[in-house]
Amino acid sequence: MMGLAETQTLEERYLMRTYKRGPVDFVRGEGVYLYDVDGKEYLDFLAGISVCSIGHCHPAVVAAVTEQTERLMHVSNLFYTEPMTKLAQRLSHSSLGGRVFFCNSGTEANEAAIKVARKHAHGRGVTAPEIVSFEGEFHGRSYGALAATPKLARNEALGPMLPGFRSVPDNDVEALRAAVGPNTAAVLIEPIQGESGVWPTSDDALVAARQACDEVGALLIFDEIQTGIGRTGSLWAYQQTPVRPDVITSAKALGNGMPIGACITGPEAADALQPGDHGSTFAAGPIGTSAALAVLDTVDDPTLLRSVRELGGRLRTGLEELPGVAGTRGRGLMIGVALEDGIDAAAIGADLLRRGLIVNVPAQSTLRLLPPLVVDGDQIDRGVALIGESLAAAG
Ligand SMILES: *Cc1c(COP(=O)(O)O)cnc(C)c1O
Repeated sequence: MMGLAETQTLEERYLMRTYKRGPVDFVRGEGVYLYDVDGKEYLDFLAGISVCSIGHCHPAVVAAVTEQTERLMHVSNLFYTEPMTKLAQRLSHSSLGGRVFFCNSGTEANEAAIKVARKHAHGRGVTAPEIVSFEGEFHGRSYGALAATPKLARNEALGPMLPGFRSVPDNDVEALRAAVGPNTAAVLIEPIQGESGVWPTSDDALVAARQACDEVGALLIFDEIQTGIGRTGSLWAYQQTPVRPDVITSAKALGNGMPIGACITGPEAADALQPGDHGSTFAAGPIGTSAALAVLDTVDDPTLLRSVRELGGRLRTGLEELPGVAGTRGRGLMIGVALEDGIDAAAIGADLLRRGLIVNVPAQSTLRLLPPLVVDGDQIDRGVALIGESLAAAG
């Protein structure tokens, strides 16, 4: 096996420079632990950015993928396969009750939702449909999803951007009401903003978005790519809010590491897309959908979801007692940690990696914690202790 230095040399020479990576070469994962090329163990409080939610190499997912891979890997969407139909039924029954479009990533799930929204708007006579989002949101990096990601859409070097997108300040109910009008096709919202540092959208803003959409006939779309699949302590985050969206998008933890996304509709939007409107060669393939069925068997369980809420509380209580922590935000096991002024979060993140704890630093003074949902109380306490040690050493 190559060591870290050799891997870094090849990466430096041959990969496009789109990512800054932590200096670790991982070779193995099991549950909440990762192991690097030198055999060092890491407690993983990031889970591949909320992807490996039921733990690395979960035996049920490994078995489902292995068994399916040995039998049939791909046939395309020109034919039927059983796992995609079972998964669509399960996703629909667990949420909005309409139809599902499968894809291979979160970005693509949002692309599908944008198409659904535009087609639905054209159906009621809107010729220049608009999508409205809040300023701090992240919806992905292809041109449609990028246009709905205001901060990244300002990168003029990637322009021109797709027209028909508007944004308003986070949680600004008046601005949202003013932005929604007869041309609005959809309001697209993360119920908790993830990439920007775990900022829950207020219930007032969600209710206002629902009302504004209802007034003009627009769709309310929740991007649940990060918040869904149990992350916040319910299968979907919207279930802990006062509103029900018309469309939700999912990906990340849906496949626990197998690339799969889904755009899930309620009855209102279920028939917007018709033959010829959308498609994907790989999407709905039997391996990814089999993996997702195994994921839902584990996550869609009241005992596990209760434990996510309890462990989230335990993690936040522990963190809030630490010197250097100004506060915490989030729901369930999706937690943003605000550090006190003057503490360099990036340095803390790098130090924690050396101490064997993986966290993410989405913003200057913020740590983001997304541990696997199968973490136990002792592992939560160990994570808090390591963060405490790192903050003490820095202070
Ligand atoms: C990660 C993420 C996306 C993009 O998903 P990809 O699989 O990276 O394309 C979109 N929206 C939210 C809220 C996300 O967290």
